Amino acid sequence: MIKRLKIGLKTPVIEYARFGVTPGEAKKIATPEQVTLYCKRPYDYKNLPSLKAGDSVKTGQKVALFDNNNDDVIVASATGTVASVEPFVSDFGKSYIAVKIDTADSDDIENLFEIEDQVEETDPVEEGETEKEQDEEIQEEKAQPPALGDVLSILKYVPGALECDTLSNPGKPIKTIVVSGADTDLIVKSQKFAVQSQGNNLKKGLRILKDISGAEKVILALPNDLVQGFGSVGVEVKGINNQFPSALPALIMKDILDTPLPEEKSCEDMGITFLNAEAVAALGSAYNTNIMPVEKTVTVIMKDGRDVLVSARIGTPVKEIFRELDITLNDGDRIIFGGPMMGTAFYSVEQPIQQNTDAIMVQDNENVQLVSDTPCINCGECIGVCPAKIPVNMLVRFLEAGQYQDAADLYDLYSCVECGLCSFVCVSRIPIFQYIKLAKYELARINEAEATNDD
Ligand code: SF4
Ligand code: SF4
Repeated sequence: MIKRLKIGLKTPVIEYARFGVTPGEAKKIATPEQVTLYCKRPYDYKNLPSLKAGDSVKTGQKVALFDNNNDDVIVASATGTVASVEPFVSDFGKSYIAVKIDTADSDDIENLFEIEDQVEETDPVEEGETEKEQDEEIQEEKAQPPALGDVLSILKYVPGALECDTLSNPGKPIKTIVVSGADTDLIVKSQKFAVQSQGNNLKKGLRILKDISGAEKVILALPNDLVQGFGSVGVEVKGINNQFPSALPALIMKDILDTPLPEEKSCEDMGITFLNAEAVAALGSAYNTNIMPVEKTVTVIMKDGRDVLVSARIGTPVKEIFRELDITLNDGDRIIFGGPMMGTAFYSVEQPIQQNTDAIMVQDNENVQLVSDTPCINCGECIGVCPAKIPVNMLVRFLEAGQYQDAADLYDLYSCVECGLCSFVCVSRIPIFQYIKLAKYELARINEAEATNDD
């Protein structure tokens, strides 16, 4: 079995777009008639959700799908009435529960905390206590650092949050939190926009993480041209160079933390976790306003290559965004969730944007590069660009044959940082990146099944 560090010393070849210093506003997309929110738990016909059509929800309300279970929840991104609770199959056959909400004409907003009520309820005015003293007590209560449980229960659902819940895994204690304000894919600007447009909220979120997360270190990693202005927060600020794929976590670990990621280890295995700047700014906003943020910033990359930032409710179908941007679709056009290097094609304009949808790209049918069944010609282009120095030409042979374990054991599958460069340069147009993602997904599924059988 080949064992080596994930990242070699190859020089990346493509640069991220620079953002400039005066971002325009993101175009606000109107609240759609219906939003769709996902709970990432398989739909089980033997254990149906207690949330049902006809139930009312408020904007920002955390809604449990099952009685007596606070783990499987959605955060309503609009006020309205539940239209349906149904199964949904995502990419790679992943099974979720989809909650559709018919939205009302106006928002009825749920506050996150009722601090004054809590204090009065749990600590009533004592004999001899003046109103002034009670008021001081309330202010003192308000000034207390937030509780870790509250912070985690917000951070998990805010716009920009990743799918994982890494800060609350007792099996993998986190020593370093890296908050990244760099977009990982080309052209995408959603995280950079959060850094520039939500500076105060980001600072607030960083302070909260620093004070209550228990991590030894909080690092703010920003594109080199955005590092100014965060020196007062009390966290380390580091610059990320502009060369793709430097903003990927594995590259940040190597270049900034001087901690190359060993094969088959995750960042969390090494005590390091990554959060997006947008999510941390949303955390700060939640504490500044007492309202759960429900709007996601998305970079829309249009057919002609122009990009525009929009702000839409989580759960908004992409067709609503296209309608407001006057984007028309023709037969054979392609919709991609994500950027040009790492995005995933979707088949429906009903697909809703989610917490972690940083970009949507529309490709004109004339520009769609179809994959081919041309075999690998051993040109070596993929090896030349791979930042992990993987022998991709050999790896791809095993992936095409579905021999995923051999691909991992013999040809470094787990060293791949999923940058997409190999697919980009492949002259035979082999969908190498998609093969790699499928292989990792299948191996994870097999390992999970084996672990369950062992229990
Ligand atoms: S996606 Fe391709 S180029 Fe990028 S690290 Fe993986 S194998 Fe290498
Ligand atoms: S770029 Fe494509 S054709 Fe060339 S060696 Fe790599 S997999 Fe083979």
